[in-house]
Amino acid sequence: MSRVPESIVFRNARIIDGTADRPRNGVDVLIADGRIRDLSDGFIKTKADLEIDLTGKFLLPGLIDCHVHVVATTVRLAENALFSDSLVTAKAIGILGGMIRRGFTTVRDCGGADYGLQQAVELGLIKGPRLVISGKALSQTGGHSDFRGRYDTRPSEWFGNRLGALGYAVDGVENLRLAVRKQLKAGAQFIKLMGNGGVASPTDPVEFLGYSRDELKTAVEEAKMAKTYVAAHLYTAESIKRAVECGVRCIEHATLTDGAAASLIQQANGVAVPTLIIFESLKKRGKELGFPKEAMAKIDDVRLSGPSALETLKRAGVPMGFGTDLLGETHQYQSEEFILRHQVLPAHEVIRSATVDAATVLGMEGLIGCIKPGAFADLIVMDTNPLNDISAMTGQGRHMPMIIKEGIIHKNKLK
Ligand SMILES: [Zn+2]
Repeated sequence: MSRVPESIVFRNARIIDGTADRPRNGVDVLIADGRIRDLSDGFIKTKADLEIDLTGKFLLPGLIDCHVHVVATTVRLAENALFSDSLVTAKAIGILGGMIRRGFTTVRDCGGADYGLQQAVELGLIKGPRLVISGKALSQTGGHSDFRGRYDTRPSEWFGNRLGALGYAVDGVENLRLAVRKQLKAGAQFIKLMGNGGVASPTDPVEFLGYSRDELKTAVEEAKMAKTYVAAHLYTAESIKRAVECGVRCIEHATLTDGAAASLIQQANGVAVPTLIIFESLKKRGKELGFPKEAMAKIDDVRLSGPSALETLKRAGVPMGFGTDLLGETHQYQSEEFILRHQVLPAHEVIRSATVDAATVLGMEGLIGCIKPGAFADLIVMDTNPLNDISAMTGQGRHMPMIIKEGIIHKNKLK
C-alpha cells in the first residue's frame, strides 16, 4: 500500500457510474496524486507512471455504503458494547478490510466508530474504506441505543466511552444538546439519532416514537450550527413525518413509510437510506448467531415491506443512498443489497444509489461517487458489466480485478 505509482492513465475504459443505463465507451482517465485529473472521450496525451489498457473492462467510481457499523463485531450488540476497545479494534480491522475488498471505498458509520479509527484508516494503518462518522448514536432511555435490559439500571453514559457501543441513551433538551456537542467535539461529521423503536434493542417495539419534538429540534439546531445535519433511525410513516417536521434531513431505513411521508421528505430536500440486507440476513442467520429472541420476533415487522418502501420513495422522488446496516458475522452479505434492490429498481439506479446519490447523502458531491476531474481517485475495475448482471457486484470482489482508493492501489489482479 504505497502511493507508487503516483499517476496512472486508463485507456479505453467503459465507464459506469449509475447515471445512465449503458456504459460510456472509449474513455481515457488520468489520475495523479490521489485525484482524478482528466477524463476524455479522446486520447489523453500524458507521461503517466503507469498505463493500463481497459479494453473490454468497466470502470466504476469506488462504491459508497451510507449505513454501516464497523464496530459491530457481533450481532449481539449488548455483548459487543462490553468487549474491550482493543478487541473491538482488532475485529473492526477485519470488517473494514472486507468492505474495501468488495469495492467500497467510502462508508458512513451510523453509530459506534470513533475519530481514532477514522485516523487509523487515513494514515494507512488500517486497510479499509474512507470513514465518515457520527460518533455514538443517541436515543432516549429505553430507545434504540439503549441495550440495557429491563433490570439493568446502570447509567447509560458509561457506554458513551466504550468503542463497542453503537450508542447510548441521553434524555432531555439540555442533556441532548451537550451530548451532540460532545460527539461533534470528538470528530462526528453528522449526528445520528434514534427516532423510532428498533429491532436489535430489547425494550422498544418498532412503532415506539423516539425523542420529543423539542429534543429532535435541539439536535437539529446543534448540527446546523456545526454546518452539518441529523440522520435518524426511522421506520414508520408517523415517525418520519415528525422527524422531517423537526428538521431531520436523512431518513435511515424508512421501511414502513407511506406516500405522504415520502413526499414530505422530498419537499424538505431530505434523503433516505433504505437498508434491506440486514433484515434478510438476520432472518436467515440470526438464531444461529445468537441474535436475542425478543429481537428475532421483530424482524418481519420491517423486513417484508422493504422492497415496496423503495418503490414508494422512488415515486416521491426522494434520493436514495445505498445502505446495509450489517452487524458482526453478517458483514459478508454487504453486496447482496444490490440484488435485493434490483428486485424493484433498474440496475443503473441501484448502482447510482452507491455512487452519485450516496455522495449526495454524505454531502460530498463531486468528491466521491463520480469519475470527474477533482474527485478522489476512488475507482474499481470490473470484468463483467453489472448493468447486465448485477450479481457481478457480489462475490467479495470476485469481478473486481482492480480497486483503488485515493490513488492507492488496494488490489491489482489485472494482467
Ligand atoms: Zn444502523
